[in-house]
Amino acid sequence: MLKTRSTLVAAILAAALGGAAAQDRDDRYPGVTGSITPSSSGAAQEWSGADGASGHPLMTAAAIRQAAANFPACLERIWPMAAGRSITREFYQSATAQLTPDLRIMDLMDNQPEFTKSFWDYLDILVNEPRIAKGRELLEKYRKTFDAVEQAYGVDRYIITAIWGVESNYGTLGGDRPVLRSTATLACVGRRQNYFREEFLSTLEILQRGDLRPDRMIGSWAGAFGPTQFMPTAFKRFAVDFDHDGRRDVVDSIPDLIASTANNLKKDGWVNGQSWGYEVVIPTTLNFMLADHRRPMPLREWERQGLVRAGGKPFPHPDATAYLLVPAGVQGPGFLMMANFTAIMKYNPAEAYALAIGHLADRLRGGDRFVQDWPRYERVLTRDERLELQQLLARHGYDVGDPDGHLGARTRSAIRDFQAKAGQIPDGFASATVLEQLRVR
Ligand code: CA
Repeated sequence: MLKTRSTLVAAILAAALGGAAAQDRDDRYPGVTGSITPSSSGAAQEWSGADGASGHPLMTAAAIRQAAANFPACLERIWPMAAGRSITREFYQSATAQLTPDLRIMDLMDNQPEFTKSFWDYLDILVNEPRIAKGRELLEKYRKTFDAVEQAYGVDRYIITAIWGVESNYGTLGGDRPVLRSTATLACVGRRQNYFREEFLSTLEILQRGDLRPDRMIGSWAGAFGPTQFMPTAFKRFAVDFDHDGRRDVVDSIPDLIASTANNLKKDGWVNGQSWGYEVVIPTTLNFMLADHRRPMPLREWERQGLVRAGGKPFPHPDATAYLLVPAGVQGPGFLMMANFTAIMKYNPAEAYALAIGHLADRLRGGDRFVQDWPRYERVLTRDERLELQQLLARHGYDVGDPDGHLGARTRSAIRDFQAKAGQIPDGFASATVLEQLRVR
């Protein structure tokens, strides 16, 4: 199962990497995520008491109330599984005795906002001068730690700093909910109990082992915590005790934080010495059907297709393979994505997020802004329009899966097929024009 890191980018941008992982979001960037109500300001807010927008039978107000009433019984049912992981009865009891479900999480889990931001809006918000300046400050402050971590893990310091900056604005926006309570709630209430039971059990293991104190394990509604937003299961796989004090403290120990994040990327396939990818200029003659994450080619093949790096520099590793991402259609920039982009996508499976991390890393290193403009004049489709777009594509016989308003790789591919058949450049961009054309057909 894919990690459910705090995906702060709306599902409209999430790649089809397994819908479950791409659909968990959190509340660190109200209004930026496009996934929660802008008024959401944290744990103090009460549950709305309304049926969830997903329509899932476990998300109706009645089902949520019933699950909340059964919360103590649910925790008792989970106890044998905890015992199977060497959680002591004493610890389980003390950890859960005072727990009550945080039902506000149900609103956050099922929130489906009408309006979302464009790809370029996310990049503007996540990669900006203050974030670059703060990142450079941290790079300098922890230079020796970064030296040691690069030596030990072979993962570039700029990418780690960029994850730190994008995930939590360097630890300043990491959520305000106790992870134990959030994961216990999600393990007993709502539509993803099986998934979150594992996160809850992992949280108990972390706390019993003493890696973190409960009051320091604070995070998003989905249980992602610390400056680089580890989920409890990801913590178990990747966290390391780099400062050798006996605790893996990814919240308050900078060496543990930096090394654990590096270890995560390394285990997810980070290739030392390579970039995540490159902004490229695409010739208008290109067959856009090639812009497909399932069709990687060596960079020198892409050069043969007429693609060049924006800014004109050569590709340092022309034999490395890459796929072409054109997130905003023929009017916007293209990107050739290499293995390290895939590693970032495993960290958080949303394209705009992963691109923001890659770009912020480049900027921290002293690189330039993207050269080409985004089609900022394009209007972003509302949720109803996205649903309509998918339904129209499905009616015309294109495979979009279950229309859900989330525009991923599958919808993009369906749009490409539609555009190709209509004799247009098949760039796969879900523009208002494409919707208009589908309506009149
Ligand atoms: Ca430590």
